Amino acid sequence: MTTPMLQLTGLKKSYAGKRALRGVDLEVRDNEIFALLGPTGAGKSSTLLASAGLIDLDEGKVHLGGDDVTDIEPSGRDVSIVFEGFNLLPVLDVYDNIAFALRSPAYREPEDEISKRVKRTAELLQIDHLLDRDVDTLSGGEKQRVAIARTLVRRPRMFLLDEPLSALDLKLREGLRAELRQIHREHRSTMLYATHDYHGAIAIADRIGIINEGRILQAGTIEEIYARPANAFVGRLIGSPSMAFFNASIEEGQVAVCGFLQRFPLSDFAFSGNKDGKVLLGVWPEDIAMVDEGATQSNPGRIYAVDNRGYESAVQVETDAGSFRKVLEDKLHYRQGETCAFSIAEGAAFLFDPESGDLISRGHGGEE
Ligand code: ADP
Ligand code: MG
Repeated sequence: MTTPMLQLTGLKKSYAGKRALRGVDLEVRDNEIFALLGPTGAGKSSTLLASAGLIDLDEGKVHLGGDDVTDIEPSGRDVSIVFEGFNLLPVLDVYDNIAFALRSPAYREPEDEISKRVKRTAELLQIDHLLDRDVDTLSGGEKQRVAIARTLVRRPRMFLLDEPLSALDLKLREGLRAELRQIHREHRSTMLYATHDYHGAIAIADRIGIINEGRILQAGTIEEIYARPANAFVGRLIGSPSMAFFNASIEEGQVAVCGFLQRFPLSDFAFSGNKDGKVLLGVWPEDIAMVDEGATQSNPGRIYAVDNRGYESAVQVETDAGSFRKVLEDKLHYRQGETCAFSIAEGAAFLFDPESGDLISRGHGGEE
């Protein structure tokens, strides 16, 4: 194994007695874009601030390129961070805002080199026509581009991007995401990118880490996470729509779901131990097929909502054991309130512990 660019070990942080990080372990490899995905309050910003040295940790170690930087000042870490919202200097024009870090005592680049880099970065972010403008005359989207340009103009060991696009509308977001990837390709830079947006994370990242309540639940490529979601929480955060969950119980060698005609023999699961009792059955919506009512081995449901998305539609299906959402091809038409039937692909279900949410076992259907 090569040395990771960023290695976080056992990070713990409380704010006034409230625990924000409860032992964060994470590795970001050289030249990768790693997305830190989690809901608001999960600890994403704290993780990035700790990596940059901008908060004091209660416990844990930060290594950059193999060096222990836990006790090194932010200025000595050679990382560049974009905060949520804009961190622009209002008295300067766009050019000087972008050039600012390159003129700092730590860098002090020659002005012709600064000029080249500012112009190139401004072109990539499509703000080269704005270089003479005062920042307070810019729109929100333009300001965010300038804020990103300020960070990306540098060549630090790595970039820390804290929800850099979340304040922007969808179209701007998609455009800027592509530009970030382009900058990443050109400079082979390493990025840790915090977001609460699943689509944003999979669009930009090589690998993803799922964070909740100050802990990393799982890290890997999206394919690895799909093949083996470590916790029900991961299933709820990943996918489009996210994983379907049904309350189930293990009885007499099989998994039974209340109201389902389908039974799931325990021999279908890579199962060790003899757990009896309640479990949570998780299925990716892609492994659920809508079938004719009355079909053998099908399960009854009711269409709770239909959501037309133009060329496709999504249904929300309710059952006695849980509900799920699924995207349908356009030829299937369902109406709100009507009954329906569905079946789950053989070997596709996962079992989770209903208390901790931890994965107990997966079906044999996957490619493991
Ligand atoms: P995220 O970026 O994922 O939303 P944060 O790292 O900002 O998460 O916050 C994690 C937890 O720590 C949250 O509960 C948040 O309210 C709390 N928190 C963050 N910063 C502070 C602070 N400066 N003072 C008090 N509590 C904070
Ligand atoms: Mg945050």
